[in-house]
Amino acid sequence: MITIKNLLSLEGSPEELNLASDENIEIDGSGLIALPALIDPHVHFRIPGNSEKEDWRCASQAAIFGGVTTVFDMPNNNPPIVDSSSLLKKKEEINRQLDEVDIPLRYHLYLGADKDHFSEIRKCSSLVCGLKIYMGSSTGTLLIDDDQSLDTCFREAAKADLLVAVHAEDECCMRNNLSHYKNESSPAIHSKIRSPEVAQKATEKAISLAAKYKARLIILHMSTAKEVELVRMAKARGLSVYAETSPHHLFLNTKAYDKWGCKVQVNPPIRETRDQEALWKGIKEGVIDTIGTDHAPHTLAEKEQQYGCAPSGIPGIEFLLPLLLNAYNQEKLSLRDIIKLCRKKIELIYRIPSNNDWILVDINKEQNLEDHQLKTKCSWSPYGDMNLKGWPVYTICNGRIFNVERKTKDLVAL
Ligand SMILES: [Zn+2]
Repeated sequence: MITIKNLLSLEGSPEELNLASDENIEIDGSGLIALPALIDPHVHFRIPGNSEKEDWRCASQAAIFGGVTTVFDMPNNNPPIVDSSSLLKKKEEINRQLDEVDIPLRYHLYLGADKDHFSEIRKCSSLVCGLKIYMGSSTGTLLIDDDQSLDTCFREAAKADLLVAVHAEDECCMRNNLSHYKNESSPAIHSKIRSPEVAQKATEKAISLAAKYKARLIILHMSTAKEVELVRMAKARGLSVYAETSPHHLFLNTKAYDKWGCKVQVNPPIRETRDQEALWKGIKEGVIDTIGTDHAPHTLAEKEQQYGCAPSGIPGIEFLLPLLLNAYNQEKLSLRDIIKLCRKKIELIYRIPSNNDWILVDINKEQNLEDHQLKTKCSWSPYGDMNLKGWPVYTICNGRIFNVERKTKDLVAL
């Protein structure tokens, strides 16, 4: 049994937590608040194929340090995850790596939509948390850029009652923009090539297909004011359309290119402050349902290349909770909002059972997140200059309790 005494509940009243465990551990939780552990519904842990960027040994520790005990991993691997055999192989490798580090991280996998594997959608529907469709090209080779294939994906997913999760950027619109800016070399041009219209066009198309086939749809890493309005209208029509946004779209904007260059190059790109403000409003009004980190690490050497050579993607799983607790301290959202966005709504939308995992947070602790402390294999972040107020102290995952105060280099299980 794990017993934590002298905790505070969300309402500020005294609370004691008793959790089933093989070990007998009692902890004084004075000054700490207990929150349900987070789910990150959007990660790229890069296995199989790109273990130089990330693997499950490092990323599982990064997750625990970030108060995340469940992750949903994306299929744009090498080889891509497009059928039951690649799914099972991937699972075996993940389980092997989690066993090695002895971290009981919970996970689910997405199936990647692929033009040669439409019949796998129904076959794999009970094995995965959703069908990931890349409407525009990003990292990896997965891409559905013609209307007929896109139609087939939505039809098959709807028949299988499988959630469709889209990377909503219109490939054709993006290629047009690219031809205008091909001689430019500033990283900031990324936000113009992948313009708000690129996202808007794809989101419109995805919503109309969700309506046509009565498919359940989530717009991933939503980044623009216009998309917030599209999702608001879809919900008002009674469609099962949901929206996710990402920490880099909430906490960074195009000004970040000056300081961080290609490190903040990501798809869809960081936007103007007015889009950032629309996302926060979308959260307040319940139009945005979930936050997924889109944890997409690349090595520092890759990200230090010039624009055009550097790959897109930002790590995130380790900093989501401190960023959100800091935002709570700035009165941008409530602790209940955090639980809703990062746990409750994800369970409902993805239809996964609830668990008894918890995080104990010190809402007043202030510190900087230094790159050398990070557990993600890539060892960098675009938030290193921020002093954040509100940090996790313990993460409880599957009956195990981990101290995540970053006092030692290694993750300590009590
Ligand atoms: Zn992603």
